[in-house]
Amino acid sequence: MKTRAHDVAVIGAGPYGLATGAHLRSRGLDIVVFGQTMSSWREAMPAGMILRSERASSNISSPDPTTRLANYLTQTGATSIPLLLPIANFIDYGTWFERTQLADSRRDEMVRSVSHDDTGTFHLELESGESLPVAAARETLEETGWTVVPTALVGIYRWEAADNGATYVRFTFTGEARGHDPARPLDAGIVRALWLTYDEIAARDAAHRSPLVLRCIDDYRAGKRYPLDLVTEVAVQRSLWETS
Ligand SMILES: Cc1cc2nc3c(=O)[nH]c(=O)nc-3n(C[C@H](O)[C@H](O)[C@H](O)COP(=O)(O)OP(=O)(O)OC[C@H]3O[C@@H](n4cnc5c(N)ncnc54)[C@H](O)[C@@H]3O)c2cc1C
Repeated sequence: MKTRAHDVAVIGAGPYGLATGAHLRSRGLDIVVFGQTMSSWREAMPAGMILRSERASSNISSPDPTTRLANYLTQTGATSIPLLLPIANFIDYGTWFERTQLADSRRDEMVRSVSHDDTGTFHLELESGESLPVAAARETLEETGWTVVPTALVGIYRWEAADNGATYVRFTFTGEARGHDPARPLDAGIVRALWLTYDEIAARDAAHRSPLVLRCIDDYRAGKRYPLDLVTEVAVQRSLWETS
């Protein structure tokens, strides 16, 4: 079990959690913000929703005036979007705010429980085990800059590579693409993310790391879909954070 100490832990990375983190950090506190950035907006609201609040009322609060919605729109070149904001732009704004204000104070983990002891120290127990669909969404974001919400499992594949004798097991998910952050730095070794047609992918078979690549796409095109809860998550590693 690992233990780390912070002045403050903010639980939740929605607009208010991000704002709270930005204000506390500006006061020189050692903070950590837990949760998945803008997840309520990504996962619990209609994808094509238009914000009810006007632009002037949709800033995420921060002591730094360069973090306002207008700054985000200018810096990302999104100045021509409608006055009442589509939800995808607001999610992008939250992600941009997090990256510019809180990058090294964020933990993309959920809190399982909070308790405190006689000394006034709070203890947070984390859900540090990551489910496969959550891992797939995180990897996609880190390697392409696209936010996706997994909707189904396409298949589970086992392949024995002839060259090294290793056995690979692949879980393939399909999901909804909810937004792209072209400014997000991609994982080391990733050159760029491309959208290709089926024929273009098939024509590049020499670049495929395994025959599983095309097989997964063929299964997707054939309509194979299994429920996400087909894989049952049992073992969850726990860790403890402290804040006083
Ligand atoms: C349909 C709809 C339309 C709306 N339209 C507007 C609008 O136009 N304008 C407007 O200003 N407001 C609007 N709202 C209200 C707005 O969504 C909320 O006021 C706002 O999202 C609250 O922000 P928050 O930071 O408190 O938390 P949320 O945005 O709700 O985010 C919750 C955060 O907590 C995290 N979390 C949850 N459980 C845990 C855990 N156990 N451990 C760690 N982290 C956890 C999540 O990952 C997430 O990061 C709308 C709401 C709905 C439902």
